[in-house]
Amino acid sequence: MLTKTERVVICGAGPVGLVTALALCRAGVPVTIVEADATVCGDLRAVAYHPPSLDMLEDIGFLEPLSEIGYPQRYVRFSDRLLGEDVQLDMEVLARRYRNPVSLLAGQQWFTQVGYQLLLQEDCEFLFDHRVLDATQTDDEVVLTVFENGAQKEIRAPWVLGCDGASSAIRRSQSIEFEGYTWPERFLMIDCKTDLSVRYGTNFMADGPDWKLTIRIPYGPGPDDWVQRLVSGIHPDLSDEDALRPELAQSRLKALMPSESDHPIVSTRIYKVHQRVAKTFRYGRILLAGDAAHINNPMGGQGLNSGIHDAFNLAPKLAGVWRGETGTEPLDLYDRQRRITNWEFIQRVSVENKMRNEETDIAKRRAAITYLKSLVDDDDARFAFFMRWSMGDSLDYAADITLDHPAEAPRHAMPA
Ligand SMILES: Cc1cc2nc3c(=O)[nH]c(=O)nc-3n(C[C@H](O)[C@H](O)[C@H](O)COP(=O)(O)OP(=O)(O)OC[C@H]3O[C@@H](n4cnc5c(N)ncnc54)[C@H](O)[C@@H]3O)c2cc1C
Repeated sequence: MLTKTERVVICGAGPVGLVTALALCRAGVPVTIVEADATVCGDLRAVAYHPPSLDMLEDIGFLEPLSEIGYPQRYVRFSDRLLGEDVQLDMEVLARRYRNPVSLLAGQQWFTQVGYQLLLQEDCEFLFDHRVLDATQTDDEVVLTVFENGAQKEIRAPWVLGCDGASSAIRRSQSIEFEGYTWPERFLMIDCKTDLSVRYGTNFMADGPDWKLTIRIPYGPGPDDWVQRLVSGIHPDLSDEDALRPELAQSRLKALMPSESDHPIVSTRIYKVHQRVAKTFRYGRILLAGDAAHINNPMGGQGLNSGIHDAFNLAPKLAGVWRGETGTEPLDLYDRQRRITNWEFIQRVSVENKMRNEETDIAKRRAAITYLKSLVDDDDARFAFFMRWSMGDSLDYAADITLDHPAEAPRHAMPA
């Protein structure tokens, strides 16, 4: 069976596919979303949306419903348990630049629900239970091979966006390399119903290999719908099976919040941790965005935020092409701006965040916390710190990239 559509087809109803679809619809471009699952992605992974992203989301009416359950987080806490040092940094200094100078905490499944509800009011068609198997292209169109209801069919479209996550079938179909590396250690995510934030808040706890991060995540719809997340590392020698033992999760929780009885654990998951960027974000009539284009370790919450930035960079450029106002060069510019910026900022900063928490050298740890403490009363230095942290610098850098910029991005190797 063959369907020919005069619409942009987006593969993946995850947060990036949905927000890209909304930005395209608002620019007058009709969209079809092809999603393997029965509904939009319900994963509770991303948590924090940073000030530049919030301003973008506000412009398309996304921020108000997201804020219904979201918690505006003004302070980020860093501590060093061995040194007994603790500092809380006020992000509101970003009001110099952004309308929303806080990070909004809201579970990713609420984000996708908001996107879905907004898209139901737009010229957006959803094809659920449609798994993309392959894509081929000619000068005029892309042909998707899709599995639906036990059978294969073809969907033809003038432009296809791969927003289908880290294992992207679209990226693989074009043999686009996913350059970078995977860390030997994995991350353990324990979500529970004990409110550890009473004592620790959203806190990056440096402690060598015993580093931790805690964060309280509202995911809606009700006030009781939240989890407390504890993130910590898993030594490369520990098997997945042993890392998932309930006793291990309980001991990590009790080390933070002593308790005679067990903490009520909601889920315990393991994530592999990668730093990877696709070799190109544009291949003919196929474009990549979000995790299909780049992935990074989650320390500092930059993955989905950078996917949101992809969406807002790509949508106006593709809309111009769609309306016949421009040639396709802006799509090459999208590739260059977002890909090079990902290597130069998102990959670098997420590695810095990871290394700061894991540092074992006491002198370096003392220097790191001393530096962070020096920011408390220095508004200019704190502004500079949060511009990098919340990805404002990365957007400024991307905006300055033109087609004259070298197409090759510098790659980074895994730190020794
Ligand atoms: C533990 C953890 C915490 C994180 N915290 C943060 C954070 O605080 N802030 C932040 O910015 N980022 C964070 N991230 C990263 C963030 O979760 C991802 O960047 C984000 O989910 C990427 O969205 P996406 O839409 O690109 O891909 P996904 O969320 O992976 O969605 C992809 C969609 O495509 C669909 N799909 C896949 N294959 C096919 C196919 N063949 N055919 C059709 N559909 C398909 C999937 O079903 C899914 O719906 C975190 C990640 C992890 C693991």
